[in-house]
Amino acid sequence: NNIIVAIDGYSSCGKSTLAKALAKKLHYIYVDSGAMYRAVALYFLRNNIDMSDHAQIEEALKNIHLNFHSRDYETHITLNDEEVSEEIRQMPVSEKVSEVAALKEVRREMVKQQQRMGKSKNIVMDGRDIGTAVFPHASLKLFMTADPSVRAQRRYDEIHLKNPEVTLEDIFENIAHRDYQDTTRAESPLVRAEDAVILDNTNLTPEQQLQFALERIEA
Ligand code: C5P
Repeated sequence: NNIIVAIDGYSSCGKSTLAKALAKKLHYIYVDSGAMYRAVALYFLRNNIDMSDHAQIEEALKNIHLNFHSRDYETHITLNDEEVSEEIRQMPVSEKVSEVAALKEVRREMVKQQQRMGKSKNIVMDGRDIGTAVFPHASLKLFMTADPSVRAQRRYDEIHLKNPEVTLEDIFENIAHRDYQDTTRAESPLVRAEDAVILDNTNLTPEQQLQFALERIEA
């Protein structure tokens, strides 16, 4: 049987950093499920999709084709064959994505695609509902948390060179907004799976986090 590691948690907790490191170490496939919701949100923005119109949402989903191409362990995603990996990290998408991800039609389709990716390969997938909805039988489930101001600072350090107009406060607010949306939505809200191991990385280095995860996989 193939091995699945599910990493869930709040926004900007370092899920993808750990997931990538783990995938690299174990030679597993890394799947960034958030990139999929971000790409869908980008399509909704560009095409002005009315989120109260179910027929429009269904139609949009039929016209969205997502693909990951992993040359390395970075996330490269295409939306209808266009490389959008950079654009999905920009503020307009970050501000829209949680509303789009709350739509049940969108979740149903993304979960289906994610489950297909985990059919026969060893994978590490990070997101919000991986251990609860996508792979409830994952081999290992981690639930990551970190101090909110530490999270905002880390994200700020990551993006402020490319996006000097974005302030630490903007990021703090965006993280708080997405956490609120993600934990209060009706459709598979962000919640720790009962059997998920909590990893608070406020004071842990990336190396210590990797060690923590590896010990639990070997156990
Ligand atoms: O992981 P990332 O922060 O890039 O995800 C962006 C947004 O996508 C999250 O704030 C959340 O609203 C949504 N998401 C989700 N379920 C997942 C992954 C992401 O709802 N499995």
